[in-house]
Amino acid sequence: MHRNRIITMSATIILGLGSLLAVPSAYAESLQEMKDKKSTIQEKRTDVQSDIHKTESKIKHLESQQLTVEEQLDQLEKDMTANENKIIEKTAEINKTNAEIESLKAEIVVLKDRIAKRNELLKERAVSYQVSGGNLNYLEVLLGASSFSEFIDRVSAVATIVEADQDIIKQHEQDKKSLEEAQSAVEKKKSDLEKMLAELQEIKQQLQVQKKKQEVLLAELHKQKEHAEHDMVGLEEEAVNLKAQETAIAQAIQLEQKRLAEAEAARKKAAEAAAAAAAAKAKQASSSGSSSTSSSSSNEVVSAPAVSSGTFTRPSAGYVSSGFGGRWGKSHNGIDIAASGTVPVIATADGVVIRAYKSSSYGNVVMVSHSINGQTFTSVYAHLNSMSVSAGQVVSKGQQVGYMGNTGHSYGQHLHFELHKGAWNAAKSNAVNPLNYVSM
Ligand SMILES: [Zn+2]
Repeated sequence: MHRNRIITMSATIILGLGSLLAVPSAYAESLQEMKDKKSTIQEKRTDVQSDIHKTESKIKHLESQQLTVEEQLDQLEKDMTANENKIIEKTAEINKTNAEIESLKAEIVVLKDRIAKRNELLKERAVSYQVSGGNLNYLEVLLGASSFSEFIDRVSAVATIVEADQDIIKQHEQDKKSLEEAQSAVEKKKSDLEKMLAELQEIKQQLQVQKKKQEVLLAELHKQKEHAEHDMVGLEEEAVNLKAQETAIAQAIQLEQKRLAEAEAARKKAAEAAAAAAAAKAKQASSSGSSSTSSSSSNEVVSAPAVSSGTFTRPSAGYVSSGFGGRWGKSHNGIDIAASGTVPVIATADGVVIRAYKSSSYGNVVMVSHSINGQTFTSVYAHLNSMSVSAGQVVSKGQQVGYMGNTGHSYGQHLHFELHKGAWNAAKSNAVNPLNYVSM
């Protein structure tokens, strides 16, 4: 009896697999295709990983270049400050020297004026000697002496006066000469300072050119780094996507392999059963064992519903006691299926168990993720009495996930069944009416 049921379920799985099973080689081919696709994705991932490493080392290299340029810029900045200080210092010295030159010039002017006046005076005196006939005036002075001793005094006085005049002129000439020398020395100093200043200005310009160059280089390095970092973000995103694809394909392969094994087992069993039936018929033993299934509709154990040929199959036996939508002032995000007795609950489609746990509201609940023609669906089986699967497990359409129960926030035995187009979320925003997908 129990075996019969398995045979029935396996047979319906074969039916469910449809035309693919009719051509086993095509089936194997699709498995091979998936394996090929998986290894292509793995290769691509390896490429992306190596690109990530390359980009990382490129970024590191660019960063160290940036650091070098920044250090060079710092040094240039210091050089420029030092140079600027020197320029200020030299300019101040030049200004001071200019002031010195100006004051020397003024002194020279005053001295020249004094010399000119003195010369004029001496010339006048000389003219008066000549007009009165040489040293006559001096002679008169000398002859006017009343005594010899006075005469001697007068002689030396005249000599002293002449000598003094000449000394003054000499001294004046000397002062003028040294002032002129001082002036030319200061002018020489000024021209040296101006030369130095010109050199400093030249250095300043060179430093500015260097700084500009380094700044351009730094900007270019920044740009390159930005590009590399942008590439990095893209590569990392790609790596994550590829990993997700690889995982999905690995699960699909697992699923296909399981299907293949089950199909093969079912085929063998069916062949054995057919052979046994044929043998029995041949013996003409007139057995009455042709009615196969559901002799067990007693009030205890209920059979799982037959697996439908559609994408989704009904999750349990029973009647729909509550539909999808508003109920008691709040929305009902699934349907309730009620039945008494021991009622198996089955997966509505092929998929992977996301969660199998006990929640305060859902009670014992199983959530299964399905990928149907590229669209993700999530089915939820709540208030279960017990669960027979665990998270991460691959389940096929019709495979039992537990028994109907009354756990969690439930009043009376029923299955609360939800279907989400997309992922399950707490807001249940992806919930769809299961009755639009599953025939009950
Ligand atoms: Zn419900």
